[in-house]
Amino acid sequence: MNNPATVPHSKGTKVRILLTSVFGPFARDDEFGSRRLNPMELYHNQVTRLQGGFSLRMFHRSFGLLMLQANLDAPCTVLDFPGLESFTDEIRKTPYDIVGIGAIMPNVQKVKTMCAIIRRERPGATIVVGGHIAARPDLSEIIEADYIVRGDGIRWFRTFLGQDENQPVRHPSVLSGFGARIMGVNLPQEKGRTAAILIPSVGCPVGCNFCSTSALFGGKGNFVNFYETGDELFSVMCRIEEDLAVNSFFVLDENFLLHRQRALRLLELMKANGKSWALYVFSSARVLSAYSIEQLVELGVAWVWMGLEGENSRYSKLNGVDTRELVRTLQSNGIRVLGSTIIGLEDHTPENIGAAIDYAVSHDTVFHQFMLYTPNPGTALHEEHRQAGTLLPESEMPPADSHGQYRFNYRHPHIHDGREEQFLLEAFRRDFDVNGPSLYRIIRTMLEGWKAHGLHPDHRIRKRYEWDGAPLRSAYAGAVWAMKKWYRGNDRMEKKIGDLLNDLYETFGWKTRLLAPLFGLYTLTCLSREDRRLKRGWTYEPAALLGKNAAAVALEKEGHRVISNHYVSVFGRHLPRILARTFEG
Ligand code: SF4
Repeated sequence: MNNPATVPHSKGTKVRILLTSVFGPFARDDEFGSRRLNPMELYHNQVTRLQGGFSLRMFHRSFGLLMLQANLDAPCTVLDFPGLESFTDEIRKTPYDIVGIGAIMPNVQKVKTMCAIIRRERPGATIVVGGHIAARPDLSEIIEADYIVRGDGIRWFRTFLGQDENQPVRHPSVLSGFGARIMGVNLPQEKGRTAAILIPSVGCPVGCNFCSTSALFGGKGNFVNFYETGDELFSVMCRIEEDLAVNSFFVLDENFLLHRQRALRLLELMKANGKSWALYVFSSARVLSAYSIEQLVELGVAWVWMGLEGENSRYSKLNGVDTRELVRTLQSNGIRVLGSTIIGLEDHTPENIGAAIDYAVSHDTVFHQFMLYTPNPGTALHEEHRQAGTLLPESEMPPADSHGQYRFNYRHPHIHDGREEQFLLEAFRRDFDVNGPSLYRIIRTMLEGWKAHGLHPDHRIRKRYEWDGAPLRSAYAGAVWAMKKWYRGNDRMEKKIGDLLNDLYETFGWKTRLLAPLFGLYTLTCLSREDRRLKRGWTYEPAALLGKNAAAVALEKEGHRVISNHYVSVFGRHLPRILARTFEG
């Protein structure tokens, strides 16, 4: 993986390690590279961006850091979403031997600032930088770090600490998201309703020219399997199920179903052990089509993130697949699809971009991500532009703005003068206007799934549709009731939403008919308040989180400063500020 040769640290596993994400606040424009257009919210940032109060707001942990922490024998603390001040305090207070920073490309200025603080406060500490930012070839000239690690950090860190690098990979038990909020309603983190994260592999052998993740783990033909077999994966999932009382898994694997033998063995074990798990997966269209719908339903695939890229795009992963038909089949079986479309492919012009957007929108996927075609360092696309001399200098296009939701970082052959932003916004707008709020689409798809499989003869499958579809009878029906009121005056949307509401009433009967207005009135009030809040420019920031592994907790107990005995603790003094911003009325 082209990583620096490492001399193991002289203290071995006796070192004290801090692994940290970059600092916030994130949803504002500042000199460190935070951007209002690039908040720390995956969905609101690039999927439901223009859906107003209907946008899904939520945060995700830095899973790479948590994965590393679980695999190090040394005392290791993870700090997620600190402020600059709390990061500096942590470095000052604790004598860390190693500080690792995980970051993406736009955060180069933040990483530079953090490295300078570490050097100033802890001159003896070793600084390790990893994540997507490590793919930048000139990084060592910009930041002051001891090691820049590309690709598999677990193996690298184990070698550095003198641990056996071939030990089986330990998987942390972590929920996939927190702080979820939609229509102004904070979604309770009820036991069992939030999926756990599961990382079976990293990288993707398909190797699309723009794909940073694939490139980071070796590109075409390469990937890193943390769990080779279905048996290994099943036993990890059983442990997580027990630890977190979950029955669903967000499978953070670029192309989970590509590893067919592993997926089918997992299915066998799920069947043999009566597991009614739901899986949320990433998959390319061609791989998905290689499974029958029965197999996907049996495997518990409930949600798929799939690259649609663009009509006639040259990617082999789409060869021979009618993606509209595929989406229709999946969604009619209750499988929610998040389609991903690229704006600004080589052949896109101001004249044909409207048709490209219409084509994307015609998929009517539950969610639709739109991103600008962006060459990131490390990818084949970046190399192509570098050789052609078409990359923009950083003075013209700072890395902080190169996040795929604003401008190209290169000269596009046909789209000029910053018009790409307008096209991107048009894509989001049209998807929202034509297909309605994603929440409406989710509920419609879940109802279709319920109708198709709610009475499935296999108890294991029936049970999954039962627990997954339970909110359709009450809270979701209430949300649809509220949406219908919200769209009063928009005849097309009102009818569309009204049809779904009637369908819910017919399917679930008088109790749902009774509950919908009760939940609906509450939701409508929250939505109106959210709308006012958004018009005042409200933004959403994640809470700062700090967690220690067992060795770090043990070290604290030996007489050092005790922060928390729990795995995750919220920084007390940031909480009031975060709560104030969250509930600001
Ligand atoms: S199929 Fe998806 S994950 Fe795999 S290389 Fe292409 S874009 Fe990346």
